[in-house]
Amino acid sequence: MSDTNENSRRRDRRRRNRNRDNSNTSRQNATQPAKRGNPQQKERAPRVQVPDIPAPPKMPTPVCARCGEPIQDLATALADKSTGTPVHFDCVLKFLQEAESINENESLLYIGQGRFAVVVYEDPSDKRKFTIVRQIEWEGREARAEWRSEIAGHYSQVH
Ligand SMILES: [Zn+2]
Repeated sequence: MSDTNENSRRRDRRRRNRNRDNSNTSRQNATQPAKRGNPQQKERAPRVQVPDIPAPPKMPTPVCARCGEPIQDLATALADKSTGTPVHFDCVLKFLQEAESINENESLLYIGQGRFAVVVYEDPSDKRKFTIVRQIEWEGREARAEWRSEIAGHYSQVH
């Protein structure tokens, strides 16, 4: 007598639990059928569906007119002095080191807006203090503006 009561009560509790499980899992993830009697199922975080986002159209990678390697970071590139096409900043620096016959005590600095400067450091260990020996106008502003506005145009098409 008492045994059957025990059993029925236990069954009731189980049914109640099961119901709660069902409502939980259906709220979390409607597509996956709930696995009953697996307590770990509840602990797991709901799966995040990552929507398929098409890859953004690739920017055409320009090739450096001096070394022939692709220019990955156009923001740091300079326009070549003769052709106006983008070239690596380092390639310009290397070229100028030789072309401008920089003396041993002199250094080459980029001072912005397409210009370099040959400088002499008062104290080679202190790069803040230097005297500009001469300036080198590297890129004309028109040449620079041309392919830079192309990039800007491309970006505005994408975004
Ligand atoms: Zn290069």
